[in-house]
Amino acid sequence: MPVVSTPSRSFDVDTVVFDKDGTLVDLDAVWFPPAKGWVDAVASDDRELTGTLARRLGVDLDGCRLVPDSIAAASTFEHIGNETADELLGRGWSRDQIDAALVRAAAAVDRAFDSAEPTMLADVPALFDHLIRSGLRLALLTSDDRGPTLEFLDWLGARHLLDAVVTATDIEHPKPHPDGLRRIAAELGTSADRMLMIGDSVFDRQAARAAGTWFVAVGHRSAAAREADASVGCIDELTAH
Ligand SMILES: [Mg+2]
Repeated sequence: MPVVSTPSRSFDVDTVVFDKDGTLVDLDAVWFPPAKGWVDAVASDDRELTGTLARRLGVDLDGCRLVPDSIAAASTFEHIGNETADELLGRGWSRDQIDAALVRAAAAVDRAFDSAEPTMLADVPALFDHLIRSGLRLALLTSDDRGPTLEFLDWLGARHLLDAVVTATDIEHPKPHPDGLRRIAAELGTSADRMLMIGDSVFDRQAARAAGTWFVAVGHRSAAAREADASVGCIDELTAH
């Protein structure tokens, strides 16, 4: 039986489930430019709206980063769109104005993605290969949409290494709901308590807790690390035998 280990604790599981952003790839390097593009495209030259919307979504414009566990950092595009629309609705914008702003914002996000390559936090294909050779099955559970997630996995050359990929597009209730983990357990014919979730956000930990899945936080001092079963500074600290 395979065992997955962090420097502080070992887990007797058959499946490892990875979050994507902030776990495999640098969250701020990947998501700050599109998040800033979103806010700028919606607010245009309205500096007060820029500041308010950025705070509401968790986009730290001065620090060039996303606020940990904020909507921008951990939630879905649908949620970001709904929050944005709600802010604009409260300011008396018409439905047509809001729809036009969301179209501008989505285009700005696409442009930001087109001009940047993901910054990996570790040699992910090598880590996946090591875990697979130890007899583990691997899955990805992300709040990103399916199209960009598969594009990312193809770019990384790791799509074929994953036994299951569940995105925000595939389930009704994204993290922190346990739907995604339950879907993966069903797809792979295992049970939630035989899986280990690896993630950087509180949503990851809450999803794991609700499903009954073990949880390792990425980042020792993150909010996700509080009440986690273990934490690592980086996923390359994971080993298996
Ligand atoms: Mg994450």
